[in-house]
This record gives sequence, structure tokens and C-alpha cells, in this order.
Amino acid sequence: MPATRLVDRLRETGRPTFSFEFFPPGDDAGVQQLIGTVDALGPLRPDWVSVTYGATGAARYKTFSAVGAIRGQTDARTMGHLTIAGQSTDEVRRALASYERLGVTHILALRGDPVGGGTFTPHPAGLANATALVRLAKSVGDFTVGVAAFPDGHPEGSLDLDARLLLEKEEAGAEFAVTQLFFSVDAYVSLVERFRALGGTMPIVAGIMPVTVPSQIERFAHLSGARMPAEVEASLLAVADDRVRFREVGIDLMTRLADDVLAAGAPGLQFFTLNRSKATAEILGRLRELPVRSA
Ligand SMILES: Cc1cc2nc3c(=O)[nH]c(=O)nc-3n(C[C@H](O)[C@H](O)[C@H](O)COP(=O)(O)OP(=O)(O)OC[C@H]3O[C@@H](n4cnc5c(N)ncnc54)[C@H](O)[C@@H]3O)c2cc1C
Repeated sequence: MPATRLVDRLRETGRPTFSFEFFPPGDDAGVQQLIGTVDALGPLRPDWVSVTYGATGAARYKTFSAVGAIRGQTDARTMGHLTIAGQSTDEVRRALASYERLGVTHILALRGDPVGGGTFTPHPAGLANATALVRLAKSVGDFTVGVAAFPDGHPEGSLDLDARLLLEKEEAGAEFAVTQLFFSVDAYVSLVERFRALGGTMPIVAGIMPVTVPSQIERFAHLSGARMPAEVEASLLAVADDRVRFREVGIDLMTRLADDVLAAGAPGLQFFTLNRSKATAEILGRLRELPVRSA
């Protein structure tokens, strides 16, 4: 594991972090694919890798087993996501203890969404929101805690409420944030500005989703609430019937977005890999060849 604290790395100027997010596979074949992906991305020297968390019992087990497998496979710092939806505070405490046992000291503290959709209602013996989880994690162990941020706004809130909540999380002990996927550099920059205007200081890592197949356009927007600028959507739709061209255009667009957010001052990029290595490796490879632009 790297000697520099993650938070110190994120605050270094001119040397952005690169990290990869994975999801816990459902079966042995998926675990093998994940390990292959982690291996393939390893030479790119990620500052950390992270694993998403599902609220149901079986999904939780899969997260811990994926984290264990990755930790056995790579020297990269491993971050565990943790949610509170559908769980009592005791269950969340046990999850924190599991992470501690696995040697995972970096947590992304999230609320999660209700399984099957609908309005979020806290578990009767559970925590109210992600801010409460930040407080809990900081109180029970030596965890470095990150939180979610939403360039296009959280679907249940507003841009101003989001910025206030981000500040509340920082005051509760969060030390960095990672954004939801987004397609417009302006959305990222405005989020950072709203947060800084309130006095928030924590670094906000930009979440980048490689777009490689046409079905992703609608699915990503539906799942995340991210707005795709008309010109981005038009250039993708123009090649939607040609899989090879679509992939090229998608990788070009995401490389440009990543380069633009770094030029705008983003402290790092978190790639949502979907457990595949090629598109992320391509974008990162191209970024490293581009001349460095100043903010
Ligand atoms: C980088 C990233 C990784 C993610 N990983 C996962 C994952 O691994 N597993 C998973 O299930 N989900 C994951 N998510 C999705 C996330 O759980 C959902 O987006 C969820 O709806 C919101 O989580 P949150 O942590 O922002 O919640 P919260 O901070 O609790 O906020 C959610 C909403 O609740 C309301 N709210 C909260 N606190 C207050 C308050 N004090 N006053 C008034 N209103 C309030 C607001 O409307 C707010 O928009 C991830 C999201 C991101 C961006």
C-alpha cells in the first residue's frame, strides 16, 4: 500500500490521482473476470481501487469477498463502499468491522437507494442519511471517509441542498468526495464552485464513465440523473448504428471530458470500469500522452 496518505495525495497539485471502481461479481466466472481486469489495470498504477456495496445480505457478502480477492491480488489501496439503506445501525457497524478485519481503512460512505426503487425510508433501527454514516465511521475506527457528490444534482434534492449536504459531510469528518458520472465539465465546475462558496475545502474527485455501447446512453442517464449535453448526445447518436465508430467516438468524448476536468482543477479521476479494463486503459493511456494543461 502506498506510503502517502490518500488525502495528502489528493491535495498535491499537478499530480492528479487515478482510481478504478469495480462492482462485486455475482459468480465465480465474474470473480475471475474481475481479477483479470484488476491485473490488466495494475500496470497503470491506480492510487486506489474501490468496490461498490449492495444492501442485501448476499450482495454484502459479495462485496467483502471481492474486496478480499482484490487485496490478495494487488498492492493498490482498496476502498470499500458502504451504504445504510435497508440496514440497522448494528448491521452497518458489523460491516465497518468487516472492512477493518480485511485491512480496509478507506470507506466511501453512502446512503444507497431502496432495493426495487421507490422513496428512501430509513430502517427503523438505522441511520437517517449518509452524513450520519460518516459520523459513525469516524467514531468507531480509524477510517478515512469519502462521500458522493452530484454534478447534475441528486434526483431527490436541489443543487443548493446538495452543496449544503456536502459541507455537512465535511463537517462530520469526510475528507474527500467522488462524483456521480457526468458529461459536462461545466456541471463539475459549478458543483465545486457552489461547495467552495459555502466554505467547503475537501477535494472532489471526478467520476468518469467510459461510454462504449449505444444502450448506455439512456441507461446511465436513467440510473444517475446525469444530463448529457445535446452536442455530446448528437455525436454519439450519429454513430449509434456502427459499434466500432460508436466506441471510438465514446472514448474520444470521455478522454476530452477527463482532460477538461483535470484542466479545470479536478484533483483526480475515478473510472467506473464496469469490471472491464480496455476502455479505461485506453482513456488513461491517451490522457497520459496529452500535454499537461494548467487550470
Ligand atoms: C461515487 C458514487 C459511488 C456510489 N456507490 C454506491 C454503492 O456502492 N452502492 C449503492 O447502493 N449506491 C452507490 N451510490 C449511489 C448512492 O447511494 C445514491 O446516489 C443515493 O441516492 C444517495 O446517496 P448519498 O450518499 O448522496 O445520500 P445522502 O447524503 O443521504 O443524500 C441523499 C438525499 O437525501 C436527502 N437528504 C440527506 N440528508 C439530508 C438532510 N440533512 N436534510 C435534508 N435532506 C437530506 C437529500 O435529498 C439528498 O439528495 C454511489 C454514488 C456515487 C456518486
